[in-house]
Amino acid sequence: MSKLRFRVVETAFKKKAVEVALPSERPSEYFASKVFNRSKMYKYLPEKAYAKIVDVIDNGATLDRTTADTVAEALRKWASEMGATHYTHWFHPLTDATAEKHDAFVEHDGKGGMIEEFSGKLLVQQEPDASSFPNGGIRNTFEARGYTAWDPSSPAFIIGDTLCIPTIFISYTGEPLDYKAPLIKALEAINKAAVDVCHYFNKDVKKVYSYLGWEQEYFLIDEGLYAARPDLLLTGRTLMGHESSKNQQLEDHYFGAIPTRVLEFMKDLEIEALKLGIPLKTRHNEVAPNQFELAPIFEECNLANDHNLLLMALMRKISRRHGFRVLLHEKPFKGVNGSGKHNNWSLGTDTGVLLMAPGKTPEENLRFITFVVNVLKAVHKHNALLKASISSATNAHRLGANEAPPAIISSFLGSQVSAILEKLENSSLEDLTISAKQGVKLNIGRIPEILVDNTDRNRTSAFAFTGNRFEFRAVGSQANCASAMLALNAAVAEQLQEFKTEVDAKIAEGKDKYTAILETLRKDIKESKAIHFDGNGYCDEWKAEARRRGLDCETSVPVIFDAYLKESTVKMFEATGVMTEKELEARNEVKWETYTKKIQIEARVLGDLAMNHIVPVATKYQSSLIDNVYKMRDLFPTEKAKNLSVKNLELIEDIAGHTIFIKEKVDEMVNTRKQLNRIESEREKAIGYHDKITPMLEEIRYHIDKLELIVDNELWTLPKYRELLFIR
Ligand code: ADP
Ligand code: MG
Repeated sequence: MSKLRFRVVETAFKKKAVEVALPSERPSEYFASKVFNRSKMYKYLPEKAYAKIVDVIDNGATLDRTTADTVAEALRKWASEMGATHYTHWFHPLTDATAEKHDAFVEHDGKGGMIEEFSGKLLVQQEPDASSFPNGGIRNTFEARGYTAWDPSSPAFIIGDTLCIPTIFISYTGEPLDYKAPLIKALEAINKAAVDVCHYFNKDVKKVYSYLGWEQEYFLIDEGLYAARPDLLLTGRTLMGHESSKNQQLEDHYFGAIPTRVLEFMKDLEIEALKLGIPLKTRHNEVAPNQFELAPIFEECNLANDHNLLLMALMRKISRRHGFRVLLHEKPFKGVNGSGKHNNWSLGTDTGVLLMAPGKTPEENLRFITFVVNVLKAVHKHNALLKASISSATNAHRLGANEAPPAIISSFLGSQVSAILEKLENSSLEDLTISAKQGVKLNIGRIPEILVDNTDRNRTSAFAFTGNRFEFRAVGSQANCASAMLALNAAVAEQLQEFKTEVDAKIAEGKDKYTAILETLRKDIKESKAIHFDGNGYCDEWKAEARRRGLDCETSVPVIFDAYLKESTVKMFEATGVMTEKELEARNEVKWETYTKKIQIEARVLGDLAMNHIVPVATKYQSSLIDNVYKMRDLFPTEKAKNLSVKNLELIEDIAGHTIFIKEKVDEMVNTRKQLNRIESEREKAIGYHDKITPMLEEIRYHIDKLELIVDNELWTLPKYRELLFIR
């Protein structure tokens, strides 16, 4: 068995890069070649249908049956020309993955044969079996009809021989069973609320877009090594493994040269992603060995999120062509950095203005401050919810663990914006007099010259202002960004609604517009102060300080999920029309259940590996030591033999200590699981798994990792960190 490990490691280290031939065209020519985007719609659709579908996409007009049929036929024609034979409704159930069911473009022709056909009806709506996806009880199995409905705002694309149609997934009674439907509702809510607030500054604004630019971190490891680690294979992370003597302490990986094998993978991935219209732009090494990052140019949030999900699927597929496996888990290896997915988020108008970027005129800068303050207020009010929106069993290893950011949401603003808000809060209102002609006089230097310094960065903040956007850094690497984005957009939408109500009330009292805005902002700055923190978010003092400030400091993931059912949350989601209380309850059932299942699987895998890999190997080595001790006695006089065997006797005892602990703990863990599985409430069960099982996983691991250091390297069956973590 040890031979197997060495063979696998040797092959991994010897693997050559698979060279990728670059397409003969330039990226600008093959970009989006596999996407039914506007230029293709224009080419394949009659003028009237084209105008109609653009109206549907841009203005949310209703789609009539005739147009749907015309679009379906055009899609089929284009897809067939591209070699596609099948189509699928592509959707995001409440797992972190995407789902699809492929059907061929064929129908009976009524004469005993088949014709290639795709109707508007099939484009617009399908009925997959909703009972096989997590639904938190909204769908009973006997009434399992949920349906997928076309989302025309995200264009169809082709993967292999299949036309993929982005869809939402809802129950027969209309509750969303996915992430996309509520995300679209949240985007609509923020559009409306932000347009209203924009009108204080510019009456021409008709639409506000929410933008998302994600930065995807990931690990690559050799496929052979991956296959030899059942824990990676089954749980996505290593449940055991002693730290390698060298990992990231030399800080030599970040921005270092990318290994050739990896570079070829990246090239291949980029070409495929560009063809699918994903505008990838940057790639580099990350902090940990074998860790990398890529990022596209930001896009409208719904599309950007589809692209992220698509990209994760592409990464999984393309990595295998290069003999790699991609690890999207937030913490595949203990002791080295985990992976996140920074969500760069901003709002922008159809007039081309980024609302969270300073402008040139006093009025533009007041608009800038207005939006920044409203975001802070929303993040403050819903900090517990935002944390819940990024929490999962897997991301828990990254947030709130020893070496990572704490499980607290706070916002970094940088020195300039901080100074502006402070001034605004503390100046007397007389200093803030404003007139349309004079401009906004904030008496804080010359506000028209706000120049936000982009380099003023703080990497430890969970929600950092970075010049013209906020960067939500706590999102997990394998998460569906929609979870965080729908919570954030809805929370800010609610706040903007409230802001407008307050400002309008002051105007109704006879105050001029600018005074009304400034007064409201001053109050909001005061009220949301606790969320603003520019210091080091990783230090222990911050945890204590955050608690004093009343920020949510809960670290247990199942309890963190309670934030979804808080009164303020339900009120917010209902006020913005994003989700109802019933939906929130159902979704939490799914969250708790998923949490339990993930820990349950880890516990089983660890138990198995401990009992059939680790303990047998350790015992074998122990026996050889015992053998040696006896042989010493045969060879040397008793006293001398004793002296010569001192160290071996110690080792024998050590091994016994560790293996006994492991065996007992595994038994205890199995029994505890049995008890916990009887608990009916999903919430209580998840809390039980969190409180009782996760510490056991750590305890067992501790002893396994000790054994790894003692036991003869030749006997050890599982590839070690030093082998997994360094691609040659
Ligand atoms: P960093 O310096 O944080 O590593 P980059 O400047 O490369 O990152 O940008 C990271 C991501 O942020 C990219 O996807 C980029 O397109 C996106 N981004 C830039 N500006 C905005 C914005 N205003 N709104 C949303 N995303 C943005
Ligand atoms: Mg960034």
